[in-house]
Amino acid sequence: MASEFTGLSVAQICEAIDTLTPCMDDFVYVYDLVNDFYYISKLAVERFCLPSNRFHNVIENHAKFVYPADIPMLQQDLEELVAGKKEFHDLLYRWISVDNDPIWINCRGFVVRHEGTPLYMLGCINEIGARQKADNVSGLLGVTSLQNYFLEEETPPIGYLLRLGLDDFKEINEKLGSDYGDLILKRTAECITACLLPNQKLFRAVADEYLIINFSDRSTEEAIDQYKHIRQTIDTFIKENNYEVIYTISGGILKSEQFIGCSFSDAMKFSEFSLNEAKRHGKNCCYIFCQADYEKFLRRRKLSQLLRRAVTHDFEGFEAYLQPLIDTDTNTIYGAESLMRFHTQEFGMVSPGEFIPLLEETGLIIPVGKWMLNEAMHFCHKIQKKIPDFKISINISYVQIVKSNIIAEILNAVDYYQIPPATVIIELTESGIVELDTRITKLWQRLKERGIRLALDDFGTGYSNFHYLNELKPDIIKIDRTFTLKAVANDYEFKMLSLMSNMVHSMDLRICVEGVENTTELSRMKELLPDYYQGYYFGKPCPYQEFSEKFVN
Ligand code: C2E
Ligand code: CA
Ligand code: CA
Repeated sequence: MASEFTGLSVAQICEAIDTLTPCMDDFVYVYDLVNDFYYISKLAVERFCLPSNRFHNVIENHAKFVYPADIPMLQQDLEELVAGKKEFHDLLYRWISVDNDPIWINCRGFVVRHEGTPLYMLGCINEIGARQKADNVSGLLGVTSLQNYFLEEETPPIGYLLRLGLDDFKEINEKLGSDYGDLILKRTAECITACLLPNQKLFRAVADEYLIINFSDRSTEEAIDQYKHIRQTIDTFIKENNYEVIYTISGGILKSEQFIGCSFSDAMKFSEFSLNEAKRHGKNCCYIFCQADYEKFLRRRKLSQLLRRAVTHDFEGFEAYLQPLIDTDTNTIYGAESLMRFHTQEFGMVSPGEFIPLLEETGLIIPVGKWMLNEAMHFCHKIQKKIPDFKISINISYVQIVKSNIIAEILNAVDYYQIPPATVIIELTESGIVELDTRITKLWQRLKERGIRLALDDFGTGYSNFHYLNELKPDIIKIDRTFTLKAVANDYEFKMLSLMSNMVHSMDLRICVEGVENTTELSRMKELLPDYYQGYYFGKPCPYQEFSEKFVN
């Protein structure tokens, strides 16, 4: 394939490359071997970390845009070509994009010689992973085309961007096969097309997502109406299709002022977020992008990363605090509840109300809960040297019960720290127990058999149900601060609480009143004759050292 010189100079080739550039997506290049000079289509500079579209010292410059691990392979291939050991250059390797990502390219080319002397290399580079511009399943243009549209439009788009996504499309594919799935994607595209308004364009985003871009001045209300219209059209299609398949569609709306001035990739991120929010809100609905929600989402994501990092770095940033529990009979310290804390440089002290749900969602509650269990037992072991019957109360999440071997972990820790089981209290929040789950009853029984005590936390906030109080027979019922507050403010609430505590006492269970902050609250709650108190009035949660100094020594 190596060619004999045809009389075309490098300068003429460069000119031809410039002429061809607007007509192609691939990047044509010439590598002048005599002058060690490289020339490539100007568009390549927008995509890759090239020093320029024309540069000298080609081999040294490779370090700037060729993925480091691929440089030796590339240079060996070039040497073989120049030496005439090889005729054609056809190599798959990676270049570095302007965003610093490795991008797979296919580089092809051949060397042109004059009387045996290599003059230049001529060829073409194409991105093998480049996204398709059109989608033959839905018959729509793809996102790359949308991007070009964004770049080409001289006046920025006004109106909105509406991203539509099929709900649970995976299920259609799984149940009815991917050919049927393709058909649904096509029909859905037709339904959406039928709802397009003047001055709008429809694109296929990814698998089961579509994007409508609106170039006229239309309001968010109009975007919502359009979404509803699409939903109706799909419903009609489903009906006409004799309910062979039933599915819904969600929508994410981005107003133009929310993406004008943003990069294309940011606009896509916001629109993906909007669609995800619609799905998170139960699907078959639409959501309008809100910056504050997006920031919350970013914070949650960042926090999840920090939590994961902490777990893999010896739980750095996590700390077990202790808060005193007071025995109302003796007015002395009965024990402590262990409460988790998390702090990072970036966020400072994060509230457990914020990070515990994240630990649960990510499953990280399993390692962190185990760590916490050991910390608490360790503190308890040290305190019991001075106060032998000191109780330690430990919170357990529902996720730990369902997804880890928490029973064994608790029993191991009790053995390891030689703690009398009767001084250990395991707290489970009532809202976690939606139904009487056999896993919970099993845990409850196994721990009871070993003499460990159980507390039902936040009683009254979930599905409070005396029926399962009787089933579970916890040793202690913890009354949430929200009840304390209501009972102090309102007589009716107080009477209700009073009845509830009589009932609990009649079942021979103990009551702990949580969140007592001042004497007013204390004197009111005293009337309920609780067995234990917990609250800032008696002491705030604090680190072990401080707790020892204040309450143990
Ligand atoms: P919780 O188990 O109901 O813990 C009692 C909460 O009430 C603690 O909040 C405590 O600081 C707070 N508190 C105590 N006395 C007062 C008071 O007088 N006034 C007010 N305003 N608040 C008071 P905290 O530490 O922020 O923990 C919040 C929740 O996070 C806990 O509620 C619990 O559900 C969860 N949590 C904390 N640590 C752990 C843990 O190690 N594992 C699990 N699974 N959950 C935990
Ligand atoms: Ca608790
Ligand atoms: Ca509680």
